[in-house]
Amino acid sequence: KVNVKDLNKNYGDNHVLKGINFSVENGEVVVVIGPSGSGKSTLLRCLNKLEDPTSGSIEIDGVDISQPKVDIDKARENIGMVFQHFNLFNNLTVGENITLAPVQLGKETTEKAQGQAKKLLETVGLTDKYSAMPASLSGGQKQRVAIARALAMNPDIMLFDEPTSALDPEMVGDVLAVMKTLAKEGMTMVVVTHEMGFAKEVADQVVFMDDGKVTEKGTPQQIFENPTNERTKAFLEKVI
Ligand code: ATP
Ligand code: MG
Repeated sequence: KVNVKDLNKNYGDNHVLKGINFSVENGEVVVVIGPSGSGKSTLLRCLNKLEDPTSGSIEIDGVDISQPKVDIDKARENIGMVFQHFNLFNNLTVGENITLAPVQLGKETTEKAQGQAKKLLETVGLTDKYSAMPASLSGGQKQRVAIARALAMNPDIMLFDEPTSALDPEMVGDVLAVMKTLAKEGMTMVVVTHEMGFAKEVADQVVFMDDGKVTEKGTPQQIFENPTNERTKAFLEKVI
């Protein structure tokens, strides 16, 4: 379970997150939407400790990861993150990309990690790409490898920051399908996306962010069919 309380983040005098509150139950999928610059990526980066909040708390399974004494590496092991740009290691094979972290961090033996990597490639529909180099893959395939790589650490939570935004339209469906499967299997997920179809179908909760604040949250039905905030309405009219 994730519990974000009064989270603030400043970059110099740019107050980017202005008192964010929300929680994610285990197995829940929360989709975060909102205009460019509203702080969505900053929020995810705080959840993964890629950024330190200026104030507030982020409890993950009861541990406040914003406290300085928390072991960042331990906290991060539990949280998988997938970005818009996949950041695969281009000099390593697909299999090596997936096994690298669990082996280096001593979570798995090489042999076990390789077996798990093959299973994960099956999950993301890329069984035959184990020995391929990233350069030989399409954008959608790379992104699915990036998802497999994040899953290789056996995370409790997966964060996705616009995972399909950099993809050609025909690749988007395959990546969303993998995410849907994960959601169905009970993965706890926080997803920033402009894919409103995905939000409607998969989200338990939709969070609308505007200017560093959560200005509206609710079920997809509430947000898409009955938004109460004017900014939410205006945003949805533009994107749907
Ligand atoms: P988009 O939809 O375009 O991805 P976003 O909602 O993800 O936007 P953020 O990337 O979180 O927005 O940015 C929120 C604000 O924080 C912006 O004003 C941005 O300029 C600022 N910002 C983000 N990262 C940094 C940084 N590393 N240093 C300084 N300012 C930053
Ligand atoms: Mg962003």
